Amino acid sequence: MSAPQIPAEQWAQVVEKTGGPCVYKKIPVQKPGPDEVLINVKYSGVCHTDLHAMMGDWPLATKIPLVGGHEGAGVVVARGELVKDVEIGEYAGVKWLNGSCLSCSFCQQSDEPLCGQALLSGYTVDGSFQQYAIAKAAHVARIPKECDLAAISPVLCAGITVYKGLKESGARPGQYVAIVGAGGGLGSLALQYAKAMGLHAIAIDGGAEKGEMCKALGAQSFVDFSVSKDVVADVKAATPDGLGPHAVICLAVSEKPFQQASQYVRSRGTVICIGLPANAFLKAPVFDTVIRMITIKGSYVGNRQDTAEAIEFFRQGLIKAPFKVVGLSQLQEVFELMHAGKIAGRYVVDTAK
Ligand code: NAD
Ligand code: ZN
Repeated sequence: MSAPQIPAEQWAQVVEKTGGPCVYKKIPVQKPGPDEVLINVKYSGVCHTDLHAMMGDWPLATKIPLVGGHEGAGVVVARGELVKDVEIGEYAGVKWLNGSCLSCSFCQQSDEPLCGQALLSGYTVDGSFQQYAIAKAAHVARIPKECDLAAISPVLCAGITVYKGLKESGARPGQYVAIVGAGGGLGSLALQYAKAMGLHAIAIDGGAEKGEMCKALGAQSFVDFSVSKDVVADVKAATPDGLGPHAVICLAVSEKPFQQASQYVRSRGTVICIGLPANAFLKAPVFDTVIRMITIKGSYVGNRQDTAEAIEFFRQGLIKAPFKVVGLSQLQEVFELMHAGKIAGRYVVDTAK
């Protein structure tokens, strides 16, 4: 194959100051280092994390100026001289974990996301809201050629993260799992992974549009937090014996649902915290947590094996979550809809527009 033409400049969305907005402008294309690849990003999903990053919501500073984005699906166009196992022309994905040291005790035990030197796409290094993005070859997602790049892009963060969370929950086929924030980007994929894993999902979110979408994606029932008088009772009532779900996957972007989860989870059940609302705290009654033997734990993206498994579910046609494609130039509008909680499913930006 002849070497792809790589331009000197490209379109990107750049956060120039914390709090935003992002600015659509031309910036230089970078060259990959010895252990890196350059990916011509075709599509990138827009995750709520990108909005948290722009707004400075978390107690961890971003680089500034920052090109956000960590669900970038595209084609490898260049590689450093040490890279032997990723070919020019192959499909690959820029995910949240851009790189890690690969030798600390966490990396050695395949907990790469916990590496103290992890590089985070669209946070500590530039991400996928640009036409050409760099990632460490060891960490790029391998995307099979038969996959549609727009449809798979949300899998690169949302899919991997919820799949990992479902595994961490220990829920077994036939059991019930509550998906909190089911109508959002992570939630819509969680419903599809839960179904593929043989779990019965109870979807929790707000509004009729999200309710219908959740049912179409396989949820057994929908609890509308915006109208329910008692979310805890309604979620318990959605299980056949009324004892509550075996696991809760909490993806919401506000604090209250994290506190409700420990009240409706079944005794011996597990609450998996994934959503990262600004300045939020977990609070659960010690008495109940002890005598009902409840587990509450965090789950953070996934490792390279989780990535490969999550992509394989997609390749097999088991993961079909709704997404809308808009131009990269419209990213700021997507953020405004997201801030208002008005996105059902995921928005994906097309870097050519
Ligand atoms: P999103 O905006 O697409 O979805 C969030 C959903 O939560 C919305 O549909 C909203 O209506 C719903 N919601 C809000 N309040 C609720 C409530 N009280 N009860 C039920 N639902 C409620 O966001 P997203 O892209 O899916 O991301 C969700 C969160 O997950 C963000 O905080 C993001 O930063 C975080 N995240 C964490 C990880 C991780 O590894 N732990 C990875 C990716 C994203
Ligand atoms: Zn994300």
